[in-house]
Amino acid sequence: MNQDTIHKLRKIVGQDQVTTVAEELACYSYDGTGQEYPPNAVVFPGSTEEICRIMQLASSTPFPVVPRGAGTGMTGGALPVAGGLVMVMSRLNRILEIDRDNQLAVVEPGVITGDLREEADRHGLYYPPDPASLKFCTMGGNVAECAGGPSAVKYGVTRDYVLGLEAVLPDGSLIHTGVRTAKGVVGYDLTRLLVGSEGTLAIITKITVKLLPAPEARSTLLVLCRGMVEATSLVATILAHHTPCTLEYMDRTALAIVRDKLPFPFPEEAGALLLIELDGQKETVPLATRQLTEFLQTQSGIIQSRTAANEAEADQLWAARRAISPSAFSLKPHKMSEDVVVPRSRLPQLVSCTEKLSQELGIVIFTFGHAGDGNIHVNIMLDRAIPQEIQQANAAKQLLFEEVLRLGGTLSGEHGVGLTKAAYLDIELDPQTLALMRQIKNLFDPHNILNPGKIFPPQTVPEKNI
Ligand SMILES: Cc1cc2nc3c(=O)[nH]c(=O)nc-3n(C[C@H](O)[C@H](O)[C@H](O)COP(=O)(O)OP(=O)(O)OC[C@H]3O[C@@H](n4cnc5c(N)ncnc54)[C@H](O)[C@@H]3O)c2cc1C
Repeated sequence: MNQDTIHKLRKIVGQDQVTTVAEELACYSYDGTGQEYPPNAVVFPGSTEEICRIMQLASSTPFPVVPRGAGTGMTGGALPVAGGLVMVMSRLNRILEIDRDNQLAVVEPGVITGDLREEADRHGLYYPPDPASLKFCTMGGNVAECAGGPSAVKYGVTRDYVLGLEAVLPDGSLIHTGVRTAKGVVGYDLTRLLVGSEGTLAIITKITVKLLPAPEARSTLLVLCRGMVEATSLVATILAHHTPCTLEYMDRTALAIVRDKLPFPFPEEAGALLLIELDGQKETVPLATRQLTEFLQTQSGIIQSRTAANEAEADQLWAARRAISPSAFSLKPHKMSEDVVVPRSRLPQLVSCTEKLSQELGIVIFTFGHAGDGNIHVNIMLDRAIPQEIQQANAAKQLLFEEVLRLGGTLSGEHGVGLTKAAYLDIELDPQTLALMRQIKNLFDPHNILNPGKIFPPQTVPEKNI
């Protein structure tokens, strides 16, 4: 990007809304993976119209453009691996509408997910997707990654709430997908295509989401189990008889790193934990809680189960759950954070595999996550300054992925492919499906200017590394 291009960008968005200052570029060069790729410039557009004009400039020049929300992505999606322009959505942060009668909201992509949830709550409504990063990630990033969270076990993921989108294509043209009605089947479902497209097909500029009536009551149960296999064996059994809104899992290491954040001490012999929440009407939640508690008493492998005494205790449990990912760095300076999914009944095989890999390769691997969805976060800890640890971590990742596919699972439940899984896409997708996906990318973005280097395996040297 030369001075003339920067000058043209400044004419579109204003002098102060473009930066090329090295210190400022550094702030937009990394994401949740900890990897860094500095862009040539960063732009902060203030309207859809400005984004259309930026994309017209990008496609005619051409230069790469990488959309960015809060940069919390775990697979390198927002990293400008080919340089170019990072487009930050922080100024497009308005909740444009909450329609109580039709139970929907319209938001700009830079809205923080937690802010939408709070605003919906003020209207007696509920936006269920609750990624652990909800206090700082954006709705645009959630749509681009199809983010999920603990409540997905009952309520589903971002995809299940997006009714329609406004988006700018790589050539600068504007499209509108979907509806603002409860149903709609006119034409191909481009909304579903864009949800989870990881910023590679279009820039999302407006999002219409479905809302639900807010649940009146909740109760939170903590179930301490002897070990990982005992805890994960319970998951499918619980779901066959009960409908919790969350069913989270932590192994012994995850428990240990957030031990001081838990509201009460837990017995030393506890080797894993399930965090279960029930929600619904004021009258039904106590009954459902009693039934689940009685059911758990009939199950083996449980050391202790208890219900959070009040909201503050439940909040503390959830704060501890959300703290696992950031607290992991007390173990090692770096981590590979995988979010594999297997059929729930096969969770015990998955956690046994991670334990075996950890022992055989001599590295720290710990697991936690959305067990109710079969979606487990496998954290492979390492020090990237030590080549042997990189090698072992890569070996663990490859063997883990192979086992997940053998168990009938998928490589990612919510973090997406981005950069870190691109080299592994062809072990899950067959060549025909992958070729069709490449054709779709080519149709939207013939000059490959929008978030290049993401999702697809490199076509030249298929080097599989972090
Ligand atoms: C502590 C922690 C906990 C997490 N927990 C969860 C969890 O429970 N569940 C979960 O799903 N994820 C989780 N994540 C991952 C991350 O928060 C999600 O992927 C989130 O959706 C990313 O949002 P973001 O605004 O940070 O997007 P970014 O990281 O900025 O971008 C992510 C991707 O979206 C694209 N993008 C961003 N905005 C747009 C737009 N307007 N148009 C088109 N493309 C766009 C980017 O190009 C990139 O490919 C966690 C991350 C952290 C750090």
